[in-house]
Amino acid sequence: MHDFQVKKNTLCCERTSLAEIARAVGTPAFVYSKHTLLDHFTKLRQAFAEINPLICYSMKANSNLALCRLLVNAGAGLDIVSGGELYRAKKIKADSQKIVYASVGKTAEEIEAAIRAGILFFNVESLSELALINAISGRCGKRQRVALRINPDVSAHTHDYISTAKRENKFGIDIETAREVFIHCNRNLPHVQLCCIHVHIGSQIEQAAPFKAALKKAVALIIELNRRGAGITHLNIGGGLGIIYRKERPQTADEYARAIIPIIKKAKVSLILEPGRFIVGNAGVLLTKILYLKDTPVKRFIIVDAAMNDLLRPSLYGAYHEIIPVEKTAGAMKKADVVGPVCESGDFLAKDRGLPAFLKENDVLAVMGAGAYGFSMSSNYNSRRRAVEVLVDDRRYQIVRKREQYRDLVRNEITGKL
Ligand SMILES: *Cc1c(COP(=O)(O)O)cnc(C)c1O
Repeated sequence: MHDFQVKKNTLCCERTSLAEIARAVGTPAFVYSKHTLLDHFTKLRQAFAEINPLICYSMKANSNLALCRLLVNAGAGLDIVSGGELYRAKKIKADSQKIVYASVGKTAEEIEAAIRAGILFFNVESLSELALINAISGRCGKRQRVALRINPDVSAHTHDYISTAKRENKFGIDIETAREVFIHCNRNLPHVQLCCIHVHIGSQIEQAAPFKAALKKAVALIIELNRRGAGITHLNIGGGLGIIYRKERPQTADEYARAIIPIIKKAKVSLILEPGRFIVGNAGVLLTKILYLKDTPVKRFIIVDAAMNDLLRPSLYGAYHEIIPVEKTAGAMKKADVVGPVCESGDFLAKDRGLPAFLKENDVLAVMGAGAYGFSMSSNYNSRRRAVEVLVDDRRYQIVRKREQYRDLVRNEITGKL
């Protein structure tokens, strides 16, 4: 459930009219609901209450400082994937003992910064990386805790680009090799403590079955290795919970917890979760204004002021986002493509979508479910300024990232003399 509802013919975020926000801050604009954000975090925490896991919000879904701060203040840890996200985590004074760091390509510089910050775990994805962390950790005079990310070779039944746990994906280490790594590491790498298994099988996963299949393999491995004295204390099961964009029927947080807690309990270790989309996906919308209506002999184009540089998911994954006029009146529907100004035929927010026929230029539309992988994937392509971000709390709202200005576009450029 989310707090974007139509009241008296106007779409509201909590008790604030989105039309009013669009008038005040302009478009395109991302608008987030504080209540929805915290509600989704709480739902997950309550579902897993009996085993009291550490819930590390996956910052790459939406790394806005205001949103991360709200979650951290509510008790969340953070799942980071770069030195840039570590910098953000420090900015909001997040507890570094609640930070886990995953990425197949961490640089030496990033590794050192994270060790010095005192993060809880690196989620290690290769043997070379493990050796490098050991060396840097030794140089810093520390013994760093690490998790080994395994590749359980299961199909997550999601889009190929966000499926991460098949053998042919770049992520993790196969289970046979993982066994050897534990033995090798405990003997030869004194500056790391390998004590966690990490598994993240992909994103927007609607059913429990792939999670169960992957976790059974992870738990069997933990039991076997601990019998041999490996000293594994944690299991990190990643993120990946699906949400409703259209007609999906994803498992609820409770169903997810009920399906996997019995499996996890067998491992007798502490649990870490890394949800991103589940927490923030339906807590945000993208507001965009209709610039032009263009009726061609074959179809209608609704040309809007938001584009693929603002919300890449439709172009990248063919993702579906519901689109609703913010001042709604009932009427006949007409099919249209909703497209942006960017010079690419792949620049669209919706294709062959039934939308009210009465829509006219200057009307504002809300692109729903844009909280996760929306702003965080946005770019300056076509030298477009990135959108403003707004946080709503009941009847109040606040800009939490200003719209970029033209001078921001060229800030780091040098005209040059060559
Ligand atoms: C992206 C990612 C997540 C979050 O995935 P969601 O589908 O947004 O929940 C968690 N863990 C890792 C390692 C990731 O790469």
